[in-house]
Amino acid sequence: MSFKIMPKAALPDWVTWLKNRYRVVGPTARQGQYVFAEIASPDELVLDYPTSVLPPKKYLLPQRETLFTFDAQSMQMKANIEWEPTVILGVHTCDMHAIRLLDKVHATGYTDQHYQAHRQHTTLVSIECLSPCMEQSFCKSMGTLTVPEDYDLHLTDLGDSYGVDVGSEKGEALLQGFTAIWDPTSEDYQRINKVMAEKWPRFSYRLNFDVTELPDLLALSNNSSLWNELGDICLGCGQCTKVCPTCYCFDVRDEVDLSLTKGQRTRTWDSCQIDRFATVAGGHNFRSTRALRNRHRFMRKGKYHLEAYGLIGCVGCGRCAAACLVHITPVDTFNELYRRHKKGEILEEAKQA
Ligand code: SF4
Ligand code: SF4
Repeated sequence: MSFKIMPKAALPDWVTWLKNRYRVVGPTARQGQYVFAEIASPDELVLDYPTSVLPPKKYLLPQRETLFTFDAQSMQMKANIEWEPTVILGVHTCDMHAIRLLDKVHATGYTDQHYQAHRQHTTLVSIECLSPCMEQSFCKSMGTLTVPEDYDLHLTDLGDSYGVDVGSEKGEALLQGFTAIWDPTSEDYQRINKVMAEKWPRFSYRLNFDVTELPDLLALSNNSSLWNELGDICLGCGQCTKVCPTCYCFDVRDEVDLSLTKGQRTRTWDSCQIDRFATVAGGHNFRSTRALRNRHRFMRKGKYHLEAYGLIGCVGCGRCAAACLVHITPVDTFNELYRRHKKGEILEEAKQA
């Protein structure tokens, strides 16, 4: 839509200006790590951050949410759809890809009204990643190193200023009446070209094959012995899914008050890596072993999401690798499957099954 320049010195005033109109959320430093949290003062915002413990999805899919309230005596139910005008500042490009996937998931089939309500009232200000955030990230391999066109504003750090790409009317509204921005000069354009040209070589590919081969590799790997090997070491703790920006599974419970007449239905984050997740009526568990649960997770990330939504389910953020106490990582898993496939082991295992 348009492109502007904002001096870094104007950022605190802009954040204060935004805070008068919206709930403002962004990366903040907490005990040596970074978390997305509501910004109480502009000083708390850290736009130059490696990565956050939890992705910004927690503002679109809260960890715990009331879906509706009910009264068993009057048989009344009341939908509980909550939202608050929110600006999320400093979203990394991989997390923008994850939000793109969540948008698609929650708009397909039965539209998720709760997600939609949060999403429609959220304005996303992304920031260009100019260097890798942590050793576990592999965004270049997953094609998420450049921002998808879902941002409302996109910032690029130009040293003493930010390039501000306006991507939508919602983004434009964040700048309306804010005067400390201006149109770029030819030097500004030269600077942005230089910054972008220098960025790419700083990132490395970490998969040993092209990501377009991943769905076929996983299809061939259904009976790989690697799943049992991962199952032997996995703790089944579910940390990997809790930190993942593309995971969205939840559990639903009815909570009845002491009078046994009124209550609420809530949903909370759940995890396919936890033992009881796939248990159905009669006590049958479709994925009773950690091996099966690990296979399911990696199949979803590299194959099932692509087939269902046209978008790959892993954005290469590396959070799950950083969170896993026994060092199970997508990169090692996918590369090991590829190595076994090249050696013919996977085809052999598929034939024997
Ligand atoms: S699977 Fe791991 S690396 Fe991929 S998006 Fe989820 S947390 Fe990030
Ligand atoms: S974080 Fe690691 S140990 Fe825990 S469930 Fe995930 S893969 Fe298993």
